[in-house]
This record gives sequence, C-alpha cells and structure tokens, in this order.
Amino acid sequence: MSPPTVKLNDGTQIPAIGFGTGTALFGRDAENSVKRAIECGFTHLDGAQAYDNEDSLGAGMKAAGKPRSELYIVTKLKQGFGAAQVKPSLVESLRKLDLDFVDLFLIHSPRPLKPEDGTLQDLWQAMEAVHAEGLAKSIGVSNFTVDDLKAILPGAKIIPSVNQVEIHPYVWKAVEPIVTYGRENGNITPVSYGGLTPLVRAAGGPVDQVLPPIVERLTKTLGKPVTPAQVLSKWVTHKGAIIVTTSSKEARIKEYLEAFQVPDLTAQEIQAIDDAGAKLHKRIFMRHVFGE
Ligand code: NDP
Repeated sequence: MSPPTVKLNDGTQIPAIGFGTGTALFGRDAENSVKRAIECGFTHLDGAQAYDNEDSLGAGMKAAGKPRSELYIVTKLKQGFGAAQVKPSLVESLRKLDLDFVDLFLIHSPRPLKPEDGTLQDLWQAMEAVHAEGLAKSIGVSNFTVDDLKAILPGAKIIPSVNQVEIHPYVWKAVEPIVTYGRENGNITPVSYGGLTPLVRAAGGPVDQVLPPIVERLTKTLGKPVTPAQVLSKWVTHKGAIIVTTSSKEARIKEYLEAFQVPDLTAQEIQAIDDAGAKLHKRIFMRHVFGE
C-alpha cells in the first residue's frame, strides 16, 4: 500500500514518508536498498550530492521498474556549493540519477558558504532559476534556522516548499520555533530526519519510559503489534512533519510504512512524549549549523 501524500505550498504532493540514502548508505552503493524500499512500497527517495551515491539511487529506481510518475525523487545541493554551482551540480545529479528532473531540490545546509560564493539570497535565486527551467519541480531548504529563513524570504519569488531538519523528541524544544516560523511564513512543510534517535542513538533515555503504555494501548486498539518505532513515527506526523528514515532490513522497511495504519496518538500521549523529550537535549546531526 502506498503511503499518504501531503500537499506542499506550491501545490505539489509529497509522499508522507521517504527512504533515505544518507547516514548508513553514505558513500555506499544504494542500489539494492533503494530497489527493496520501492518494492516494499516506498515512492519517496531522499538523496543528496554529498551522499556520493546518486548513481546507485538511479540504478535502484530502474531496477525496481516503477514508472517515473509514481516516484518522488529528492536531491540536495552539496554543502559549501554557492550560487554558481547550483545549475551545473543539479545537471550532474540528473545525469547520475538518469532523470530529466527531480521532484524536490534542497539546499542541504546554509553553511559553510564562502563570502566569494555570494549570500544565501543569491543561492536561493539560483534555486529559483533551476525551478523555472523545470529541472526541479519543487525547491526547498534543509537545516535552515529561523535567521537563515529570514535571510531568504524577503527577496524570494518562491517560498521554500520544505525545511528538512532533525526532528525527534530530544531536539523538539530547539526545533519547534523553526517549524512554527516556517508554518507561519509561507506554510513551509517540515521534513524530519533522525526521527528514531530516541531508539537508535539515545536508548535508555526518558522517552523510553513513556513509550510502553502507548505501544500497549495502540496494539490493543489496532489488534496487531505496534512497535516503539511506529509510535515515534506517529509522533513526528502529529508534529506536521514528513518522515525521512531508512533501514537495511526489509522487516523494518515494512514496519515504517505500516505506521500509517496505526491509530492516532491522544493529546495526552503526545504531551507525555514531549515532556519526556524535554528532559534530555540530544542533537545528532549538523552541529556546525545549530550548535549543540
Ligand atoms: P532514523 O533516525 O529514522 O534512523 C534509521 C536507522 O535506525 C537505520 O539505520 C536503522 O538501522 C535504525 N533502526 C531503526 N529501527 C531500529 C530499532 N528498532 N533498533 C535499532 N536500530 C533501528 O533515520 P536517519 O537519521 O538514519 O536518517 C534517515 C535519512 O535522513 C538519511 O538516510 C538521509 O537521507 C536523511 N538525513 C538528512 C540529513 C540532512 O542534513 N538533511 C541528515 C541526516 C539524515 P537498520 O538498518 O539496522 O534497520
């Protein structure tokens, strides 16, 4: 079953969950992982120039044999690239992916950006130009703080469709203002990466203690086992974010997709996870942008 889609501020639809080719697949051949994810039901694939594996992402798409129109392909401008590199690097990404366009092209990170490469506003104008040429159906940003959004929004002809940032309960207090600012200033959709951090990178933390009763209630309601990873995925969607995750294991890939059949969390359950998350601050990625 295909995951649901969410409408972005440019009118396009993004599948509510994407399969990532960074982290564990960084610099590695992603073909088999991508093929398996698509065969299991993923249609949204999250790539990046920096992951150094776009050619194998393209090969995985081909091997899965799904029509291009049913896939949603994301790539990101390499960190440190300036305005002049936006078009040539996207053309090179499209060559590697063997595509005519990507569905979504993101600025991977607002920093580092060398002064000789211009401002963030110049960078965003170059993104708008590749959108106008049809090389990217949607354009957005990743790892942008409120100040970074403020730097580009006043001169923007196109509002970024998404801001892909680390979102999980241990970073929610820090990231909520970015999510809220984006929503209130052009309806920028948050995309979450690192969402399973409480389970995979901070096991034993306060969130672990509040998950079991929620898992138990949802398992009873659904009539089949619900997992802690599915509860965290639900939490992310309740925060209004698209999920980007990944797995090397078929069972987990299916588990991620099946999270959309899990009933909603109650307001009290969401609050319990928020409260537990607020007891521990833990950021995993992009500290050079956000600090701790
Ligand atoms: P998650 O936080 O969702 O973690 C996924 C990882 O968790 C997998 O490696 C998986 O391992 C492991 N896992 C899942 N369930 C369990 C479990 N129950 N017990 C133990 N391990 C488990 O996603 P990531 O942070 O890894 O990132 C996903 C994608 O997000 C990346 O591939 C990339 O595309 C994107 N990303 C973007 C960034 C950006 O700057 N824009 C930064 C970081 C990521 P296993 O293979 O064993 O299932």
